[in-house]
Amino acid sequence: MNIILLGYPGSGKGTLAKDLSKSLDMIHVSTGDILRDEMAKKTPLGLEASSYMAGGRLVPDRLVMDMLKVRLGAETRGLLFDGFPRTVAQAEALDAWFGTRGQEIDSVVFLNVAEAVVMARLGSRRTCTGCGKIYNVISNAPAKEGVCDACGKPLMTREDDKTEVIARRIQVYKDQTEPLLAYYRSSGTFVEADGGKTPDAVTKDVLTLLHAKP
Ligand code: ADP
Ligand code: ZN
Repeated sequence: MNIILLGYPGSGKGTLAKDLSKSLDMIHVSTGDILRDEMAKKTPLGLEASSYMAGGRLVPDRLVMDMLKVRLGAETRGLLFDGFPRTVAQAEALDAWFGTRGQEIDSVVFLNVAEAVVMARLGSRRTCTGCGKIYNVISNAPAKEGVCDACGKPLMTREDDKTEVIARRIQVYKDQTEPLLAYYRSSGTFVEADGGKTPDAVTKDVLTLLHAKP
């Protein structure tokens, strides 16, 4: 089974993907996490991607596709895509690539959340520098301020979660990613969940939607 998660930045794709990949024994493929990993390692790809990411713009499609093909080359377990595809060109490239591998997209899950809600969530999001766990200083704060409950490392505000950059990411989503809803809606694999609920409730709803599918 291969699944794509769609939704605004801050709609909860990363949190949902971590839960779902455990429940369904799938590989969580977060292009954002992979790109941040490349950046941290200062690879040529990471260095090229960093200026796009810090400014809230998309990394060019070709770099993203090459990166995924290298990372996922021999993988046969189910893939759970979080943050990919993000443009129609990436969706078409994914279709072509899956075609050559005899693989299919089984479900596209759209996490529906109001724009005002994602704006607020992104501004209060904190990320663990050690294990990547996601917190929210308003709705899901760690026990000790600024410190990860899971691994004890300090939390940070991602470069692209700074106020100046959030508005641009929202606009980039509307311009470049939202057209994917129409691309996949007609495919018969599309389901929609209310991403405004608590993380546990969203996971439960999505599992129900996935199992209910023919
Ligand atoms: P969010 O969904 O909250 O914006 P991500 O971690 O998914 O966070 O993405 C962070 C940044 O990484 C994006 O703003 C973009 O610059 C880059 N990025 C991630 N995935 C892709 C992709 N599929 N194509 C192009 N750029 C990407
Ligand atoms: Zn941690």
